[in-house]
Amino acid sequence: MSPPKPNSYIFAAIVIKLASFYQIDPILGMAFGLVLFWASYGIMKNSLNIFLQAAPKGIDLERIKKEADALPDVKEMHHIHAWTLTSGKNIFSAHVLVDNIEKSNRIIKQINEILKGKYKFFFTTLQVEEEYVGEEPKRIDFLR
Ligand SMILES: [Zn+2]
Repeated sequence: MSPPKPNSYIFAAIVIKLASFYQIDPILGMAFGLVLFWASYGIMKNSLNIFLQAAPKGIDLERIKKEADALPDVKEMHHIHAWTLTSGKNIFSAHVLVDNIEKSNRIIKQINEILKGKYKFFFTTLQVEEEYVGEEPKRIDFLR
C-alpha cells in the first residue's frame, strides 16, 4: 500500500475551486488517515507481538509436543516456551524427559531437526532430564 499521492490534494483543490465544497479537504484528510492506518496495521500488530513475546504466529506448540513425545527415547516434553525475538527469528525452549540421559545428544539432534528443520526456529534450548528437575510453577507454561 502506497501513501496518498499529491494528486488527491490537487483533486481537493479543484473541488474547492469549482464547487466551493470546503469539507472535501478534511474528508479526504481523514480518508487518507484511515488508508495509512490500514496499511500499517500489519506492521503494528507484528511489533506488538514481539514486545509482548507472544507465541510465534503459525506455530502450534501442541503439535510440536506431540511430535517430540512420539520420538523414541522421549518420554515427554514439558515447560514448552516459544517466542519471537525479532521479525522472523523465533526462539524455543523446553524440558525433555527421557529414559536414558546417555542418549541426550541424539535426542537433542532429533528434536532440533523438527524445531529448526520443520518449524524454522532460529534458536532452541533443550533441558534433558531423566526425572523432573527443578520444576517451576506450571502457570508459566503455555501448555499444561
Ligand atoms: Zn523439567
